[in-house]
Amino acid sequence: MGMSYELGCGACDYTADVCGGPDTGMLVSVNTVTCFTCAELVDVVTARHDWSSSTPPESDSTDGRCPRCGGANLVSWGPRQPEIAQANIDITQLDDCGPCPKCGAAMRFTGGGIVTLWD
Ligand SMILES: [Zn+2]
Ligand SMILES: [Zn+2]
Repeated sequence: MGMSYELGCGACDYTADVCGGPDTGMLVSVNTVTCFTCAELVDVVTARHDWSSSTPPESDSTDGRCPRCGGANLVSWGPRQPEIAQANIDITQLDDCGPCPKCGAAMRFTGGGIVTLWD
């Protein structure tokens, strides 16, 4: 099930609704990335699934690209301390979920916007 969280920057007024890291749902796997082309946090589709079929579905030409601008200049987003990123800690509990794509300051969960988006 894909969950999306509203994350906000502590230094500027940037907010983003993203899943916050690699996540897999019924139909797609996504990962949260920073797009350097449009300077946004976005969820990109990394894989598609069809659990009822033995043949994997065709990938879409937009897979692995920024859904806003179509750019491919993306870097995986998440906590800057590797030990936190690897511990798979609940993103809502972190003071620094990852860097703001606009100014580089710490982003954190705003307390709102938990929605299931993409399943
Ligand atoms: Zn910022
Ligand atoms: Zn983009």
